[in-house]
Amino acid sequence: MTDLLSMTLPELTALVTEMGEKPFRAKQIYEWLHKKLVTDYSEMRNVPAALKEKLEERAAFSYPAVRALQISKADGTRKYLFEFADGNCAESVRMSYHHGHTVCISSQVGCRMGCRFCASTLLGLTRNLTAGEMLAQVYAIMRDTGERVSNVVVMGTGEPLDNYDSLVRFLRMISDGDGLNISERNLTVSTCGIVPGIRHLKEEKLMINLALSLHAPNDALRQTLMPIAKRYPLKEVLAAMRDYYAEGRRRLTFEYSLIRGVNDTDACAEELAHLISGMNCLVNLIPVNPVKETAFRETRPGDVQGFKKKLENHGIHVTIRREMGRDIDGACGQLRKRYAAPDHQ
Ligand code: SAH
Repeated sequence: MTDLLSMTLPELTALVTEMGEKPFRAKQIYEWLHKKLVTDYSEMRNVPAALKEKLEERAAFSYPAVRALQISKADGTRKYLFEFADGNCAESVRMSYHHGHTVCISSQVGCRMGCRFCASTLLGLTRNLTAGEMLAQVYAIMRDTGERVSNVVVMGTGEPLDNYDSLVRFLRMISDGDGLNISERNLTVSTCGIVPGIRHLKEEKLMINLALSLHAPNDALRQTLMPIAKRYPLKEVLAAMRDYYAEGRRRLTFEYSLIRGVNDTDACAEELAHLISGMNCLVNLIPVNPVKETAFRETRPGDVQGFKKKLENHGIHVTIRREMGRDIDGACGQLRKRYAAPDHQ
């Protein structure tokens, strides 16, 4: 069975013409799927029943079911646990800002990167998500809320560059004028720093934002937190990030989760300032979300401010990420894990 939601318009056109139909039918169907967000063939009103029947034999599509939904009392953040057709689950989050709604999607079921502070990786990688499954997370949330989404970040469970082809297909389809038409500039991918993936992504000529999960100012400390750092030293990762942005004028974003007593010392702040001095960049600080299975604790608020000041003294732009939905299992992967392994709670 073909995965209909993962098909681009040219692919759908090829399928429809192979069935002896006119190409404009493909565009109609594509718009039902990616603009009007229908969840069933029966909703495609201007498509002939005979064609729908033929298509149904070849291609299937469905939205994931909502297994759980948590809504933050503090800020209205909505956290969904979606269940796909094969029973696997992934989390997506919708956050509301003054400029619109941002959805954070998962790119894999689980993750094999093994970052020590991250809940998503505790059960390893189960499988990649398809482009259609990534789109369906955004579509299902839009249907559920009745509100358009203006920004999408691929920062949920999974390492997006470890699922490269589906990621790029997803990015092209969600920014497609025949689909949701979300501007490439409103799309952000976060990576732990897979150098060949960053270099490959540059060649795609997409104007999307790429954020690097840095979390440490040197290789030795980074390797204790992120196994991927053993494969790709900081020097290579930073060079790849610089090249990625060489053509555009955009700013690099570094994610830095502050872990009490581990990467939040004055010495770390100084070393970080030197590492990235002279780069057009933004450092996004976030106190680590404690995960039950790890001993890591978040940096105290006053120390977060102190770390920020130290970087700012070196002329570095810093934001402290608003902690959205902390009251609802904020950390990635915690909701899924609770359902996958109830004994651990
Ligand atoms: N694999 C990608 C994207 C998913 S994680 C990446 O590594 O960037 C999204 C961000 O949340 C990353 O910066 C990740 O390091 C961070 N993160 C994971 N667990 C966290 C936790 N418990 N507290 C704070 N940040 C966390």
